[in-house]
Amino acid sequence: MSELTARAVGSLRGVGPRAAERLARLGIHTVEDLLFHLPFRYQDRTRIAPIGRLRPEQHVVVEGEILAADVLFGRRRSLLCKIGDGTGIIALRFFHFSAAQKNNLERGRRIRVYGEVRVGGTGLEFFHPEYELATDETLPPLEQSLTPVYPTTEGIQQRSMRALMEQAIALLNQHPPRDLLPDALLKERQLPSLRDALLTLHQPHPTDAVEQLLGGTHPAVRRLVVEEMAAHQLGMLQRRAGQKAHRSPPLAGGQLFGRLCDALPFALTSAQQRVIDEIAADLAQPSPMLRLVQGDVGSGKTLVAAAAALAAIESGYQVALMAPTELLAEQHLASFRRWLTPLGIDVLWLSGSLGQKARREALEQLANGQADMIVGTHALFQEAVQFHRLGLTIIDEQHRFGVHQRLALREKGRQDEQMPHQLVLTATPIPRTLAMSVYGDLDTSVIDELPPGREPIDTLALPAASRRADVIQRVHAAAARGTQAYWVCTLIEESDALQAQAAEATWQDLQAALPDLRIELVHGRMKPAEKAAAMARFAQGEAQLLVATTVIEVGVDVPNATLMVIENAERLGLSQLHQLRGRVGRGGGKSYCVLLYQTPLSHTAKRRLSVMRETCDGFRIAEEDLRLRGPGEWLGTRQTGELAFRIADLMRDEAMMAPARDMAEQLLAAYPDNAQALVRRWLKGAEGYADV
Ligand code: ADP
Ligand code: MG
Repeated sequence: MSELTARAVGSLRGVGPRAAERLARLGIHTVEDLLFHLPFRYQDRTRIAPIGRLRPEQHVVVEGEILAADVLFGRRRSLLCKIGDGTGIIALRFFHFSAAQKNNLERGRRIRVYGEVRVGGTGLEFFHPEYELATDETLPPLEQSLTPVYPTTEGIQQRSMRALMEQAIALLNQHPPRDLLPDALLKERQLPSLRDALLTLHQPHPTDAVEQLLGGTHPAVRRLVVEEMAAHQLGMLQRRAGQKAHRSPPLAGGQLFGRLCDALPFALTSAQQRVIDEIAADLAQPSPMLRLVQGDVGSGKTLVAAAAALAAIESGYQVALMAPTELLAEQHLASFRRWLTPLGIDVLWLSGSLGQKARREALEQLANGQADMIVGTHALFQEAVQFHRLGLTIIDEQHRFGVHQRLALREKGRQDEQMPHQLVLTATPIPRTLAMSVYGDLDTSVIDELPPGREPIDTLALPAASRRADVIQRVHAAAARGTQAYWVCTLIEESDALQAQAAEATWQDLQAALPDLRIELVHGRMKPAEKAAAMARFAQGEAQLLVATTVIEVGVDVPNATLMVIENAERLGLSQLHQLRGRVGRGGGKSYCVLLYQTPLSHTAKRRLSVMRETCDGFRIAEEDLRLRGPGEWLGTRQTGELAFRIADLMRDEAMMAPARDMAEQLLAAYPDNAQALVRRWLKGAEGYADV
């Protein structure tokens, strides 16, 4: 499509600098871009409907003779023009009109009208319809194809968009584009050529099934979708190849980790062992590991990360672990210190809230190689952070970071051509389709087994207004059995202050209702030391109940806790509910989760609560979550940008993802030139980091 790619929209008739600027707002720079700007609706102007059979809400073309045109002075002045075709009569109503317009609507003249049929003051009416008047009794021929309706922008009207598209289509016909998807691949999947697909989409034949065109099931749409998705996959594969081309230090050794395991009171699960082996095999290579470890809440990902970290340290390299929140990072710090300090390894801490002096010291030890490991937040990839010999980066809770941040952290550790290995952990299982589109550049390991003793958690949803007292009794009963409970307070407001207030109020209420229990409180507004002390008292069993904001979503680990109460559960998303629930059922016996909700429940809230009652399987919950929220919300804004498809729609076109991946692999293997051109066509400069 080189002709069309090279040609700026500015070269089309009627496009001056201002219009070009407006088109650019729609992402349209070239004629090719214009052709990929698809209609979101079609009008059928290929047939004339008999006036006598019109129904409200139909969009139709009618033809008839003007019977009368009068200005009416009602509550609002309007021009009313009646037309008839022998089968019936309908009126055209205009609130804005000129004298000339009125004079042209002469009695007896033929007219063709396109618009939506509505019920008006005189019966069926068209409001401000488009119309054409006959000259010498003749009207131009009817449209041959369906009329596209395009997304427009301020200053570019539908009519001009269509006129531009006609020019673009003429060019498309003059310079039929070279198909970047080879014939063989298209035939195999019974997909049309690019030219045919574009023609069908812009000028569908009246017999083309519009629902299929709009619903994404028509071969013409699928043709474009698979091409775009394949291009994205190619981008991923190239990025991966670019990364793999770097050298990394081969890391080996299991001695330190062996010593750690000997000291643990439990054995690795076989899933942990398998994933640790997969990681070890990657680390032993002289090219960078790029591996994503998925595992449900509580599956023991931290220990797997520790195995990787110790291999790096044993080989004389440094390790950086980054988590998206301070709380989660602190939790990792605690685990790693607990495990590594007895082995004689210091673990450093870096976060935005660290004092100047402590920070300077940490940076120094990192730069001169005295320190082997550092745990922290985003602060880890600030300018000032320099590593001596970074061999491995570990990133937890990946889906909150974007690909670019992930790459930036690796870039930190780059020394000449050496790149650190990279391990990514995620507690939110990622539905397959998304995994392919967001993490297509990573290898994946799944810890698909929970440590023994984890029992499914019984979950119930109760209306807070009438059942709160019962739930308080449950807390009491749990304490009487010698187990512990969480009570999580949530608020819609993101404000820490309000969240803290709500938690404090609940804490006071519960203390009044349960005077014989010791109840701790944690929220984001407390000083870290206070927070840690309260958590520690709960963890050691001194308190029976912990009242908290959602800060405890991650990291808290008290096996003796068997009851989780979540207030205003209807306000939380599925993955957050799942994370919170994962705080119980960790070995202390049969566990329960009570979701307290406020009525009335929205449809989605109802659905979420029932999903929670039905399953504890993180993968199923993630699939449901994706279905309810859509990929944009699900991933968060950072990553949605990376998934900005022009034509494909991740939900609608889910089924095309796997074929697109296959196609990308085949293209790369057998048609490398096409692969390059495809990436240029669809990703433009967006893959500039392929080389990082
Ligand atoms: P997550 O995958 O959610 O990050 P963690 O790594 O925090 O899970 O592990 C949850 C808890 O399970 C921790 O207390 C950890 O020490 C413990 N754990 C990890 N592996 C095992 C195992 N094989 N057997 C028993 N407990 C384990
Ligand atoms: Mg974890």
